[in-house]
Amino acid sequence: MNTQLLHDDPQGIETAAAILRAGGLVAFGTETVYGLGADAGNDRAVSAIYTAKGRPGINPLISHFASADAAFTQVVATPLAHALAERFWPGPLTLVLPRAPACTISPIATAGLATAAVRVPAGRTIHALLAACGFPVVAPSANPSGGVSPSDAGHVLAGLDGRIDAVLDCGPCTVGVESTILDLGGARPVLLRPGGITLEMLEDACGMPITAMAGSDDARPSAPGQLSSHYAPGLPVRLDAQTVAADEALLAFGPELAGSGLVWNLSPRGDLHEAAARLFAGLRFLDMEGHRRGLVRIAVQHVPGHGLGRAIRDRLIRAASPRS
Ligand code: AMP
Ligand code: MG
Repeated sequence: MNTQLLHDDPQGIETAAAILRAGGLVAFGTETVYGLGADAGNDRAVSAIYTAKGRPGINPLISHFASADAAFTQVVATPLAHALAERFWPGPLTLVLPRAPACTISPIATAGLATAAVRVPAGRTIHALLAACGFPVVAPSANPSGGVSPSDAGHVLAGLDGRIDAVLDCGPCTVGVESTILDLGGARPVLLRPGGITLEMLEDACGMPITAMAGSDDARPSAPGQLSSHYAPGLPVRLDAQTVAADEALLAFGPELAGSGLVWNLSPRGDLHEAAARLFAGLRFLDMEGHRRGLVRIAVQHVPGHGLGRAIRDRLIRAASPRS
């Protein structure tokens, strides 16, 4: 398969929509990371995402909509869901809710669960694309399963060239980490994955403390694809480094440790927003260049666990966890 590179213009968006309507796969940029999109109601198209990514079938997908009204035709929305949508959509928040009786999302996309994950992403191009399609689009990150998420079109091609129909180049992603996933199906909201909307923001909006899902369980599909090894570069990752060896690459945050000749600083001034936006590009760069230079590991300086740091640390812990 020849993967087309489409430009962020009316013709590129129309071509992308036509491919999706025909059941094809198109990657596109959102504010979080690049997603690999397919028509959520088309079983064959949805299956093709799992094949292209090598994604385990137990790991359900998020459906993307042009508006909250469109999303809430597919799931049973509670008053809290409406309030959170009003406050945070379009934006990096995914809500898990019971499927509505009229839900048209393929059961393959929801891994047979009684719930569905829905989100209204931010960004002019993704909105134009969703509007042109007129149907929900499922979109996991546009990378081979288990690898580092893509934050520009080049990253997508590095992993999926020849396996998908097209990439719509929307430039670099502004948030840089995936959406926050909040399960609203139970009596109290549960944080399934930290992401671009912080826990502090959610607790403020909900007016109550939110429980974070404890640990991860690879065998439980309702545990949101939080497979413990994920976002994994080729080189091993060592967290919370206080020193760095000459044969290690350094992923720095704030003032850099001395000792490595290969450094990517997430944010020299210690800004968590800047660090999130530069995280996946940094892991990719250090992995590729570190390999080339014969380095053995990526050492990561401490990133604080509050605000967006919670999502950054979550991704780093998964990047460092033993590979399955
Ligand atoms: P990804 O698209 O790879 O960023 O992953 C999407 C995440 O949403 C995965 O971790 C999924 O497991 C999670 N997810 C999707 N649908 C559901 C659902 N119905 N219940 C719980 N988690 C879900
Ligand atoms: Mg992913």
